Amino acid sequence: LIINFNINLRKRIEMLIFVLNAGSSSLKYQLIDIKSKELKASGLVERIGIDGILKHEIGENKKLTFELPIPTHKEAIELVLRILTNNETKVINSIDEIKAIGHRVVHGGEYFKGSAIVDDEVIRKIEELIPLAPLHNPANILGVKICKDLMPKVPNVVTFDTAFHQTMPMENFLYAVPYADYTEHHLRKYGFHGTSHYYVSQEAIKLLNKKDSKVIVCHLGNGSSVCAVKDGKSISTSMGLTPLEGLVMGTRSGDIDAGVIPYLMEKKGLNHIQILDYLNKKSGILGVSGVSSDLREVIKAANDGDKRSKIAITMLCDRIKKYLCSYAGLMHGVDAICFTAGIGENSDLIREKVCEGLEFMGIEIDKDKNSKREKGNREINTKNSKTKIFVIPTNEELVIATDTYNLLKK
Ligand code: ADP
Repeated sequence: LIINFNINLRKRIEMLIFVLNAGSSSLKYQLIDIKSKELKASGLVERIGIDGILKHEIGENKKLTFELPIPTHKEAIELVLRILTNNETKVINSIDEIKAIGHRVVHGGEYFKGSAIVDDEVIRKIEELIPLAPLHNPANILGVKICKDLMPKVPNVVTFDTAFHQTMPMENFLYAVPYADYTEHHLRKYGFHGTSHYYVSQEAIKLLNKKDSKVIVCHLGNGSSVCAVKDGKSISTSMGLTPLEGLVMGTRSGDIDAGVIPYLMEKKGLNHIQILDYLNKKSGILGVSGVSSDLREVIKAANDGDKRSKIAITMLCDRIKKYLCSYAGLMHGVDAICFTAGIGENSDLIREKVCEGLEFMGIEIDKDKNSKREKGNREINTKNSKTKIFVIPTNEELVIATDTYNLLKK
């Protein structure tokens, strides 16, 4: 009887939020109990419309892979819901246990300064912003619409990659071009990875235990960006109108002289779509090294003596260093530098090279602490370092689930 009572009590206080990140041919998801912050299940559907593969994880250790035809996003979401409720893979009895759905949306323009409960007006605005995120927003909206169809009684919330950066002051988000193009064509820096920059900076502020804080977050993954966070607010970030600006990334060039564009279009006979493809998909670490966009392979090639791989790694680290120093200047100091995402969390080499030579600014990395592989948030600076250096695993899904819960609770 007592056991039964406990199970019932546990069920009653559970609040399950389904978090969805729908891309053009992929779909990431998590089922989170927001009360206990427990991750019930998570996964990734890839190659939608091509063939189809689903990698599903129950809790944090049971991993399953399914290969089967997944022609559309609708089939993908149906499949995930079936797996969550099916006998052998069951984590919930029925989809009715899902109380809300939180969606990641890439572009919220100037409309959204935080997450929003989905209604017709919200969908209309996200659609209006498609020209600013032609690859992402359509897939994100599709995810919302399918969920509304499949689970009509469950409320949907959208969380935007751009929202956290809406606090940037005008001098940091305007481009130095005629002002009318900002007012007429929405031309400005928006910034991305906002949910990650928000989560990581909040964790850092907790660790600093300081009211007035100056934090720099380095989100280093396939796509990468740096963000200056003053007193918890984004004041500048390296990505711009699109995710192409800023750091040297897996396949993106990052900052480049705009004059390169017409020059190359003429020399190579490229149209505007092809030049964007060149800068977004063929450049960066892949373009310089010629080896891969996966940094692990490029580091391996560099260790084997490959010169271009070594140069690519140095370019990547130097560009981060350039932003770190400029943001420290902009904030008149820096209390903490945080590393997050695939590269930031896993590569001690990159963290060390980024911090190398910055002792004059009070940034001193502890090489032993840096090379230890530990889970969770950790501090990797020396005792004497004026600036803290943190490795903080990002958790965008938890922010989306929390925002979803908080908005609906109201
Ligand atoms: P995404 O931007 O797609 O979410 P991730 O944050 O997962 O990407 O980061 C992927 C990148 O992290 C890849 O370039 C991969 O090479 C890199 N990475 C993962 N582990 C390591 C490691 N131990 N050393 C260097 N790079 C790593």
